[in-house]
This record gives sequence, C-alpha cells and structure tokens, in this order.
Amino acid sequence: MTYPPSLIQLIAALKKFPGVGKKSAERFAFKMLSWSEKDIKDFIKSIENVKSKLDFCSNCGALVETGSCPFCENMKRDTSLLCVVSSAKDIFSLEEVRLFNGVYHVLGALLSPLDHQFEEKLQLDHLIHRIKSLGVKEVILALDSTLEGDATALFIKSSLRDFDVRISRLALGLPLGSTLDFVDEGTLSRAFSGRSSF
Ligand SMILES: [Zn+2]
Repeated sequence: MTYPPSLIQLIAALKKFPGVGKKSAERFAFKMLSWSEKDIKDFIKSIENVKSKLDFCSNCGALVETGSCPFCENMKRDTSLLCVVSSAKDIFSLEEVRLFNGVYHVLGALLSPLDHQFEEKLQLDHLIHRIKSLGVKEVILALDSTLEGDATALFIKSSLRDFDVRISRLALGLPLGSTLDFVDEGTLSRAFSGRSSF
C-alpha cells in the first residue's frame, strides 16, 4: 500500500532539503502528523516569511529583514576593509567571532567549472565597483578551503592585480577541504586573526 497523496506530497517537499533522503523525509512527515494545529500554522508562517520578509541586500548580498542592511547602512563599520565570502550564511559565522568591523561582499558562488560555475557568475564588476567607491584598502578573502575556494581566490587576486589594495586570505588553521559552514568558532577566529597576504 502506498502513502496517501497528501503525505507523498509532503515527503517530496521535505526531500528538497540538502542531506535529506527518502527515509529521513518519511520520518519528518510522520512526526508532523503528531503536531498540533498551532505548530503547523507557525511552521507554515515561518516558511512564508522566508519570501515575504527576508531578502538579500542588493549592494553587498547580506541576508536582511525589512529591507535595511545592517552592514551597508551602519556608519560604524569600517568601509576600508572588505571581506569577501561565497554565501550570505558565512557572514553570520564571521559575525559570531566578532573580530571584523568592516563590510562584506557576497559572491553567491565559487568557481567550479565541473558544475558550470564560471567566472561570470562571480560578477566581479560589482566587486571592483565597490572596492573603488568605498575606498577599500584591504580585501579579505574568507573563502572555503576547497579546490573551488582556492580557484576563486586566485581568480579574484589576478582580477585585482591593478588595484592598490592588500589582499589577504584566512586559510591559516582552516583544515584543507573545509567549508566555512562547518568550522568551529575558535578555528575561524584564529584563521581570521592570522590572515596573511595572498
Ligand atoms: Zn548590504
């Protein structure tokens, strides 16, 4: 006997999460059957808010709520320091270690020719425009310590060779193959403090 259509639909939706296969999705779906009506309504509301309240800053790419960017619109941030990350989520990891008071730039992708992530995806024109208009003195590449992160860092470095900016990278202490996502606070903090010219 197969599951009722509504349950099949829920399982299919849950399988869209990274790392969630058929078995996990089934478990989640059956768990939800035991939720109260309020739990379900709150869950639906929080999913709706993802689209209605959250957005990415059109300037730096940070995830923002209610349209105002806590980095671009904060006069206390040092605009001579620009930290380049691959995803908006990385900003939260870096903010947690509280070592950085500059501004951010989210690339939104890393170079990965095998996955058809090519140079144009990085939109370096926008990065260069920001470096010029903000008067950036140091570009900190806070990219994953992976092949894709390395390729992207090298590409950015060569694209910025004609600019009078220091380029540094926080690779020190980061285990090879690690994504910023999975690095603990202490390691990230050491990697940031110990960043070196790149
Ligand atoms: Zn912003």
